[in-house]
Amino acid sequence: MRYAETGFNLEIDLSRGNIERVETDPRDTELYLGGLGTNAKILWDRVPPETEPFSPDNLLIFGTGLLCGTPATGCNRTIVSTFSPQTQLMAYSMMGGFWAPELKYAGYDKVILRGKSPQLVYIWINNDKVEIRDAAHLQGKGAVETAEILLQELKEPKAQVVAIGLAGENRVYFASIEQGRSSASRGGIGAVMGDKGVKAIVVRGTKDINVARPAEFMELCTEVLQYIKFRNENPVPGVMPILAGLGSPQEMKVHDEKWHTENFMWGNSRTRRKDFWNEEIARQWTETLDTMRRRLISCFNCPMTCGATIQPPGRSTYMMKCFSKLTYTMAAMSDLEFGLGIAQSATEYGVDAFSAPQVMAFALELYEAGILTDQDFPGMPADNEGRFYWLLDRIARREGIGDVLANGTYWAARQIGKGAEAYAHNNIKKHEQLPLKLSMLNPIYFLMYATGEKINITQIEGQFPQAPFATKEEREAFVEDWFQVPDEKFKQYFLDWEIRGEKSMPYYPTVPMCCDIVDWQERMHYIDDALGMCAGLSSFPLKPPYHIHNYPKFISAGAGVDMDEAKLTQAAKRYRTLVRAINIRRGMRRKDEKPPEDHWKKRFPELEKELLDTYYNFKGWNNQGIPTEESLHELGLDYVSEDFGQRGIGSDQEGTPAEETSADT
Ligand code: SF4
Repeated sequence: MRYAETGFNLEIDLSRGNIERVETDPRDTELYLGGLGTNAKILWDRVPPETEPFSPDNLLIFGTGLLCGTPATGCNRTIVSTFSPQTQLMAYSMMGGFWAPELKYAGYDKVILRGKSPQLVYIWINNDKVEIRDAAHLQGKGAVETAEILLQELKEPKAQVVAIGLAGENRVYFASIEQGRSSASRGGIGAVMGDKGVKAIVVRGTKDINVARPAEFMELCTEVLQYIKFRNENPVPGVMPILAGLGSPQEMKVHDEKWHTENFMWGNSRTRRKDFWNEEIARQWTETLDTMRRRLISCFNCPMTCGATIQPPGRSTYMMKCFSKLTYTMAAMSDLEFGLGIAQSATEYGVDAFSAPQVMAFALELYEAGILTDQDFPGMPADNEGRFYWLLDRIARREGIGDVLANGTYWAARQIGKGAEAYAHNNIKKHEQLPLKLSMLNPIYFLMYATGEKINITQIEGQFPQAPFATKEEREAFVEDWFQVPDEKFKQYFLDWEIRGEKSMPYYPTVPMCCDIVDWQERMHYIDDALGMCAGLSSFPLKPPYHIHNYPKFISAGAGVDMDEAKLTQAAKRYRTLVRAINIRRGMRRKDEKPPEDHWKKRFPELEKELLDTYYNFKGWNNQGIPTEESLHELGLDYVSEDFGQRGIGSDQEGTPAEETSADT
């Protein structure tokens, strides 16, 4: 008997129209858990590194986390993995909502798409009955609209739908996959879904999921719920609100946006508006949110209500959570009414709310600089807001300049030339980052930005405070109930961390301490992504209900896999290394691992070099970031070493790669 997981994947070959239910190997669950871990194993085994993202041989995997569908609170993530058209590397974007549990209840752990359908189709999974159906009537429809049409047509209001909009159909490099209550946006995975000719996947499942030791498991779930209640009633003092509580940043409840609007960058991630927030703006924005917000909503089996349904005047209702509330507003130098309105169009088109606004702001900067001219923007309105709507439409349709911009700032700048590259200044690994420009180098964030392969800093950080506390007393109070730490040394690191003086940034935390901290933060995110847990209840906030001490118990009692902290740490390290190996095999090297040049004003090249050298060594990677033979052996990844050996990866002959990755050429 399999516990927590179903033990079956659904394999769909779109070129041949073939559908198979394939039993999985339980040994893979022990080694790679599920979700991201087993997705990575499948991509390594089955997609050769030469495969282009838009090749029929690329896979698009919708993987549920190992504990999705069990009563574990907040465990509802679908991890979508493929190769990104924008980065050319592995993308693994996640979505909450209800889709993953529904797939488990239908009897599958993953849906694996390969090949390409000759016509636009949708997939209908109704427990054991799975069909590929014609979707000609859905062509050009919005992502939310598509879901509504399908639920009505199928007369299955309880089914869950993932769908792409026009941007995905047109292979926009930052197209998202939308789901009623969440979206998987980073890495252009929606473009791969569109390339495969799949408009939507509808799932209805009514089966049960087995739990290995139900009484013990329920007791663990009760403890977590009690802790959530406690934390909600007792926010962590001394930190900004988004870190003090749980869940994703509670942007749908927050009215005071002083911190975001005055600290994050506006326009093409360049303009800081230090005195932006005032009483009048606070009044207007509060009114806007109160008028347009219909109700607060949660993902499957979670009390946190992080999202909200939003209905802008004259537009249909959509779901929003997190920072996308502000990304369009700030890129267009506009107000919240505009931001919530255009986000409705963007959700229907299905685009990433971090990349899309920056791409549009980038285009307008090129226009102001004379690099793009009136000829590139025929008929574009004169006002900034009108321009954003106009550009979004052109991008989703890939019309005119929109066809170039649809490739994201990195590739568009190269196509445009004439110095446009300097305007694509906010990328890491060819992908637009948070619009944030800071003063002093933060060594912890330097390592996370440089080496993270998740392409989203908010999904790498967490657990350790972002900045030191002012007084010793505050620090002592903070560490008092900090039981989530994997090792007591983290408390000392924090206790000694000062705002100024010898023990302040950028030289404190010291380089070895930074390695420990980043490794811990990253490990927790990787565990979440394999279990299907929302980072908002685990790896992102300070002092969360899920942590390294109770996770092994959840896995043992839930999945029946004998687990302890050491084994869990080793498993996370194994598939984290496998993700790196996949990207290394596709050409990623040290030269790709750098935050944007202007991310911090005060940079320290020698320290940055030492940080990267030491962290690579700490992780068992050589000075190009390539996992060494010894570290691969220790993780049971000898098959990776053999492959590297055959390809000459990491050998002395390889030398230092050229400035661009092999993927660029
Ligand atoms: S904490 Fe928020 S984002 Fe996370 S599962 Fe719960 S409702 Fe969803």
